[in-house]
Amino acid sequence: QNSILSGIGTTIFTVMSALANEHGAINLGQGFPDYDGPDDVIDAAAAALKDGRNQYPPLTGVPELRQAVANHNERFYGIKVDPNAEVVVTSGATEAITACLMAVLDPGDEVVLIEPLYDTYAPTVRLLGAVPRIVRLQPPQWDLPRAELAAAFNPRTKAILFNTPMNPTGKVFTEAELAFIAELVRKHDCYAICDEVYEHLIFDGWKHRPLMSVPGMRERCMRIGSAGKTFNLTGWKVGYITCDRVLQPNVAKAHQNLTFTTAPNLQRGVAVGLAKGDEYFTGLASALQAKRDLMREGLADLGFGVLETRGTYFITVDVRPLGWTGDDVSFCRAITEEAKVTAIPNSAFYATPNAPSQYVRFAFCKNDALLTEALARLRAWI
Ligand code: PMP
Ligand code: GLN
Repeated sequence: QNSILSGIGTTIFTVMSALANEHGAINLGQGFPDYDGPDDVIDAAAAALKDGRNQYPPLTGVPELRQAVANHNERFYGIKVDPNAEVVVTSGATEAITACLMAVLDPGDEVVLIEPLYDTYAPTVRLLGAVPRIVRLQPPQWDLPRAELAAAFNPRTKAILFNTPMNPTGKVFTEAELAFIAELVRKHDCYAICDEVYEHLIFDGWKHRPLMSVPGMRERCMRIGSAGKTFNLTGWKVGYITCDRVLQPNVAKAHQNLTFTTAPNLQRGVAVGLAKGDEYFTGLASALQAKRDLMREGLADLGFGVLETRGTYFITVDVRPLGWTGDDVSFCRAITEEAKVTAIPNSAFYATPNAPSQYVRFAFCKNDALLTEALARLRAWI
């Protein structure tokens, strides 16, 4: 039977993790830490689990977490949020992305996407009967091509969906790029769905700037965060959307029809997490930056062309300087099978033809000993 879904393969993250397991490879593919989240967050969830907090919570999220999301917005970005009317808690950012798209799209509407893109974006837009309009960033700088972006907007455009800090590139959108996007969103009277799951995983003194905090954007943005990334608890699948009170009822109705609610005990843990002191958030970024540095130096030393990464769990390398003449997919397969190290081929983040074929993404959210061992295995293989 033919459907939109029959044209979509199993996600690259599952494919590469299975291959890594099959070959006993160190998995630097799928982005998940090999260390646990904060004890107090886990303890709070465990206590809620033992405390009878196990039945359906309120549709938009438990009050403690909605309040914590509102406080976090004000503390970090100066965005004032009504926890009762402007927050929706979801089962991960993945659901949040779908819920935000559902909230504003009708069949035939267009959504501007930026490539390389996270793997759920284009299929989800299509499943809703809408049309992706994809604008491509060019490596190695990944600067926003402004004329092309402007040309992608038209009277059918309902939204732009983009990710900063950006998976897989590690790009952080500049103030000027955000201002340019804001101007297009205003001019075309549409919405911005802002996937900001890596908001706290940002390096070198860069500060995350939500589009929602740019003047004129408060009412037009749906801002998405994820406990998976902010607390290194990727299996929990707790996400949160902040949006204007006019948009929130539609977002809530989308959530109502997707999952309805999200595990209440985990929500209570995340509420404790979002209230942690500033040192938690700076420590999270600096610990990860040290891992970025370890991989950046190690991979460069092996002869890869290493691209800059300013945030996220990921670093991208060019495999051509090694003399590799195949593509990124064959490279990832070869290092998994022969070097016993797994990475993700960058072409998996493209939904349009002729993706670049020389880039590979390594996840560095791992213990230093494992990263060092992975580099040693690659050295022996090269
Ligand atoms: N957006 C991006 C850019 C991601 O990298 C990820 C996942 N890792 C998600 C969304 C999904 O987040 P979650 O696990 O909270 O669903
Ligand atoms: N976001 C993670 C990554 O980019 C993977 C999420 C998933 O496995 N679906 O690696």
